[in-house]
Amino acid sequence: MSAIQQESMKIIFEDRETTLRERLRPRLERAADLRCAEHGKQVVAVTIHGFDNGWFDAMWTTCCEGLTEQAVAIVKKRC
Ligand SMILES: [Zn+2]
Repeated sequence: MSAIQQESMKIIFEDRETTLRERLRPRLERAADLRCAEHGKQVVAVTIHGFDNGWFDAMWTTCCEGLTEQAVAIVKKRC
């Protein structure tokens, strides 16, 4: 029997406002569904640092650069 680990992406918000996480949720859910074509893994974690006017920084923990690029393309830098 093979064991396939299905852990969901961990999301950490370094932000006092709740509006940012509400607005980002649909995009983060799409990023959580990504799977690396090379390694077959999902995104491990993301840390969001919120700034003013909807800007934010996202720090991704993934298996490789390729998966990070896919996640960044979905979530981008502003909402
Ligand atoms: Zn990978």
